[in-house]
Amino acid sequence: MEAPKGMIKIDPHVHSSGVSKCSSATVQAIVDMKMSQGYDGVVLTNHCQPWYYEPPFHTIFMRKVIAEYKEMQAYANPLGFRVLLGLEVTLSKPVFADWLLYGVTEEFLLQSPCLHALTQEELFNYCKEHGVVMVQAHPFRHGGALKERMLNTYTDFMHGIEINCTPCDLENWEAVVETAKKYALLTTCGTDYHSADRTFRGGTFVPDWVFTAEDLAKYLKETSQTEIFLEEKYLKLP
Ligand SMILES: [Zn+2]
Ligand SMILES: [Zn+2]
Repeated sequence: MEAPKGMIKIDPHVHSSGVSKCSSATVQAIVDMKMSQGYDGVVLTNHCQPWYYEPPFHTIFMRKVIAEYKEMQAYANPLGFRVLLGLEVTLSKPVFADWLLYGVTEEFLLQSPCLHALTQEELFNYCKEHGVVMVQAHPFRHGGALKERMLNTYTDFMHGIEINCTPCDLENWEAVVETAKKYALLTTCGTDYHSADRTFRGGTFVPDWVFTAEDLAKYLKETSQTEIFLEEKYLKLP
C-alpha cells in the first residue's frame, strides 16, 4: 500500500538478534527485508526484560541496545532507510505486560533507572516526564492484560495500544480499535518482526518529517488520529 501524501511507511516494532534473544534477524537483514517490502523505516524496539539482566546492570545493557541501534543506522543511512531508537519493556507489576517506548534518546536510556523493575504507573510517569510515549504491545496476549477490569484501573497509565501483526494477535485487531476508541487511546500498528518468515506487511504511516525517535513522539503526542496499514487495508484511527 502506498503512503498517503506527505507520509512515510514505518514498522514501529522490530527486534534484532544482537540484543533480542528471540530474534534471528540481524540489523542488516531487517533493513534489506523491510526495504524490499516498501517500508521507509523502522523503530528498533529491542527487549528490556527482567530475565535478561539484574537491575544493577541496566546501564550496561542499555549501552548494548544503543550500539545495536548505531550498527543498524550505519547500514541503513547510506541506503536512505530510517532507523529510530525505541525499546520494548516487559513489566510484571501490576500485571504482566509489554510496553513499547517511542521517543527514547540515548541519554534517556543511559540515565534511566532499571526500567523493567518499575511498575506500570512508575514507568508511565517517568516516560511522561521525559516526553516518551508508552504504548502497550499486543494488548490481548498473555491472557488479555487489557480485559475490561484491568482497563478500568490502568488506562490512566498508558498513551496507547498496538495492533500487532503476529498471527494470533492480528485476529484481535478490531477489539484493539474498539478499546482504543472507548478509552481515547492512541493506536499504532507494528509487525513485531523477529525473523525472515514474518512477511506480513503492516505498520504505521507517519509524516515525512519524522526522522528521529523524538520526532515520532512529537507526532504521536500531537496527532488526534493515527493512520495505519494491514497489507492493503488502510485505517484512520480512532
Ligand atoms: Zn521477542
Ligand atoms: Zn516485541
